[in-house]
Amino acid sequence: MIYLDYNATSPVHPEVRRAMAPFLEEAFGNASSLHAKGRESRGAVESVRAKVLKALGDPEGQLVFTSGGTEADNLALKGIPLCLKDKGSHLVISAVEHHAVLNPAQALAQDGFSVTVVPVDDQGRVDLEALKESLTPRTVLISVMHANNEVGTLQPIEEIGQMARERGILFHTDAVQSFGKEPLDVRQIPVDLVSISGHKLGGPKGVGALYLRKGVRLRPLLHGGPHEHGLRGGTEGVPGIIGMGAAVEVTLKEQREGVLAKVKSLRDRLESGLRERIPEVKVNGHPEERLPGTLNVSFIGCHAETLLMALDLAGICVSTGAACSSGATEPSHVLVAMGLSPSQIQGSIRFSLGWGTSSGEIEECLEKIPPIVERVRHAKVGVSP
Ligand code: PLP
Repeated sequence: MIYLDYNATSPVHPEVRRAMAPFLEEAFGNASSLHAKGRESRGAVESVRAKVLKALGDPEGQLVFTSGGTEADNLALKGIPLCLKDKGSHLVISAVEHHAVLNPAQALAQDGFSVTVVPVDDQGRVDLEALKESLTPRTVLISVMHANNEVGTLQPIEEIGQMARERGILFHTDAVQSFGKEPLDVRQIPVDLVSISGHKLGGPKGVGALYLRKGVRLRPLLHGGPHEHGLRGGTEGVPGIIGMGAAVEVTLKEQREGVLAKVKSLRDRLESGLRERIPEVKVNGHPEERLPGTLNVSFIGCHAETLLMALDLAGICVSTGAACSSGATEPSHVLVAMGLSPSQIQGSIRFSLGWGTSSGEIEECLEKIPPIVERVRHAKVGVSP
């Protein structure tokens, strides 16, 4: 089987499994317990916290462990406006955010907050002029993702952060897809809140974190014990946190060892190979400002779900749009926001490569995919006239 769906989730890295094992066995203590078993877990959790903050470039910052990227996004999107209600009730997001940002923003809108959704261009980059014009003295939060999960486009977060900083507005970025793959140093980029998730990096599922610049306050969503400095009640998921810490370490090491450069060159090989071998393919997203492992391609005249199933039968795992929305018949909101044609949207497949992808797999894909596309095009299954 050839797995090209790393943006949905990554296989768990062997070093992550090794790091987690003791915390599923003898090191089972509750990190809040005062005895030796508890202190062992607490020490390990705090060392991950320090490691992640260092990786973000801010050892002085705060990090709240969550159940994943979705909870981290919700905590930022709801926690900030609820805390700053007296200052203002307006927030700004982009049209290509993940549902983990879009839906909490929509929920706030139902509760009386006002939300501006800023458009993107045909490569998926946020319209900075429209963003600037949307800001008012009542704006309390801007949330624009670092990298898009469907097309991989990177956003100009430095400029957005600057705009926010000049106006005293907090800036959140969803870095779930980019953390560890693209540089994100909060000393260089004026960003106040960052969401990350363990399972996109080779860590386990069900763990993530929200970074907050020192002094940023928010309203917790989960009320319980005094865990996470009162910002997120609930016994810390120690094995998961340890796994995410190990995944961050492995990813940074791989970055230094050139693994990401290899992933990018395999992605480029797949892109040029598909273009050479198959007529009428269109690559979606920004040509350069893009995650190294992401390739979103429209096979014009194909129905993406039919193609996905045919590729699956051939042992190739890919995705149509976001994993969380696959199975839904709705067209991808990201591709719609980019203004792509219906045939481009209908035929769009996302290949996402990662640390385990080999050049042999890419060559095999380049042999197998062209006749499958030809067959699906010929069959015209599900393609509207
Ligand atoms: N944000 C982005 C950009 C994502 O791609 C995802 C997952 O696909 C999430 C948030 C949600 O993260 P999690 O699966 O950890 O809840």
